[in-house]
Amino acid sequence: MAHTYGHVILVGIDGAGCFYKKTDTPAIDGFFRDGSGTDRCLTSLPTISAECWGSMLIGVPPEVHGLTNSIVERDPYLNKEHPTVFRLIRESRPDAVLASFSNWSPINAGIVERGLGVYLDTGDDGALCERICSYIKEEKPDFLFVQFDSVDTAGHSYGYGSEKYLEVLATADGYLGRIREAVEEAGIADDTLLIATADHGGFGQSHGGDTDAEKFVFFAAVGKTVPKGGTVELEVKDIPAIVVRALGVKGAGNWDARLPDGLFTE
Ligand SMILES: [Zn+2]
Repeated sequence: MAHTYGHVILVGIDGAGCFYKKTDTPAIDGFFRDGSGTDRCLTSLPTISAECWGSMLIGVPPEVHGLTNSIVERDPYLNKEHPTVFRLIRESRPDAVLASFSNWSPINAGIVERGLGVYLDTGDDGALCERICSYIKEEKPDFLFVQFDSVDTAGHSYGYGSEKYLEVLATADGYLGRIREAVEEAGIADDTLLIATADHGGFGQSHGGDTDAEKFVFFAAVGKTVPKGGTVELEVKDIPAIVVRALGVKGAGNWDARLPDGLFTE
């Protein structure tokens, strides 16, 4: 029996790509030091938020899940043939504590299925981070998904990789660090798989294309069975396979998500 985790926390920094290498990001650096990761995690094409978050939470590419920004801003996600990882966990664990804290609220409204009992919250990154840390300590969630949006907003305003963008990225890194501290304060660090990643990067003041700066994102995971300083090869759409494997619940037979070799020692 493979070792499992009581808790998985997946933190996505919208539009962060791999730009962390250009500024001070002690929290992300800590994930790489204490866990395994890569700077060449391929996201979905086109490199747009709904397409990529959809792949990260559903485990299939955009041509299969069909989500676009205008669709998630308008419609609830009803596709039972391709469920999100939230639905898969709920089907295995009726009592699981599930939550999605997304600054960009269409993720909560248009990707996370309704009626699953997933705790939903939205707000600016700083305020959201405060509430996430409280939630972790009070509820000790089985699966918590986080989306921070300030970095992508800065990219659109000032340019991806620009000085102002990098300042905002450093601030978001601080939020990631706070979340990791909250996991320790909650007393669940030994039993938590922490994942940090991004949905896409950016080029100039936009994204959606297939340049390396748009399509490759960082990915790093820390947990008791994850090698320290290890390198893994994966795509964003593989992330749900990691989540279900860590929690010991069943994945979807028809998804493309594959567990990366070497991420878990057992
Ligand atoms: Zn995005």
